[in-house]
Amino acid sequence: MPFQTLPRVRLAHLPTPLEEARALSSALGDRVRILIKRDDATGLALGGNKARKLEFLVADALGAGADTLITTGGPQSNHARMTVAAARRFGLEAVLVLTADGDPEVQGNLLLDRVLGARVIFVSDEAESAMSEVAEDLCRAGRRPYIIPVGGSTPVGALGYVAFVQELAAQAFECRLGIDHIVLASGSGGTQAGLVAGTAVFPLPAQVTGISVSRDRAALAARVADIASEAARLAGSAARFGPDEIRVYDEYIGPGYARVTPGGLDAIRLVARTEGIILDPVYTGKAMAGLIDLVQRGVLPAGSTVVFVHTGGAPGLFAFAEHF
Ligand SMILES: *Cc1c(COP(=O)(O)O)cnc(C)c1O
Repeated sequence: MPFQTLPRVRLAHLPTPLEEARALSSALGDRVRILIKRDDATGLALGGNKARKLEFLVADALGAGADTLITTGGPQSNHARMTVAAARRFGLEAVLVLTADGDPEVQGNLLLDRVLGARVIFVSDEAESAMSEVAEDLCRAGRRPYIIPVGGSTPVGALGYVAFVQELAAQAFECRLGIDHIVLASGSGGTQAGLVAGTAVFPLPAQVTGISVSRDRAALAARVADIASEAARLAGSAARFGPDEIRVYDEYIGPGYARVTPGGLDAIRLVARTEGIILDPVYTGKAMAGLIDLVQRGVLPAGSTVVFVHTGGAPGLFAFAEHF
């Protein structure tokens, strides 16, 4: 099927702005030109990258006749929050199976899950099997559940970021901008996979660099390559990808997923104070710390034009108040 005719619902406010980050570029010695693609401004219950994925995932769920979305994540999952919001927009129920030890603070994303009226179930691990059990129970009760895996990172979800590349290519054309690099936070890998597939489908020959926030380099690259190949196939492209074609850096994770790093906190302060833009400690702060380091080490070469994808996450910041 040609990409433009794939099933899709509208959820995000598009196109998101592409903003020149002059003060930030200058704070980094004007070695590179940085622009920020504002996917924190997609709308859908406070925005973020999951809105684009959900446009394809919800279309798939509706096509399957679903009446309930089930997904998983941590207590501060942006993906969970936006999935509930997407469900509400289409009159669907939402069940969240969240992995947590103990009693997480009802703040940030978890607070919004409550406001949106999600049914929230906490498990200590094995979220996949817990989601299957919830789905079986719902089926027995005559419901039609649709499971969205962690982060919405299926090939269908990744199509949202294939479409992103088309949007960015149009903006680049309008501003006569040559984009050399795209840098983003990479967690479950679907966003990076969509970007990788998108740069093969659409004429935007930029190098995509994922800053891992959880998985080691090899594991994430393999995952991104698989999802990207399948997303490209769905988009009608013959492009396929191997792990060594996927650029991932895993040295900015720190002590682990959703654990703060000094570099991440510094990056949040720097971007807030130069650009008035809010990043988060779990994803975009660490990704920006990576971008800054790659610029300083010359891995992102002097003179290049770099687009940082602001994937959202600011609601999660409210659960990290003690670090500021
Ligand atoms: C989910 C998320 C990411 C990572 O996206 P993946 O597709 O899971 O790699 C990055 N930033 C924010 C704010 C997110 O919520």
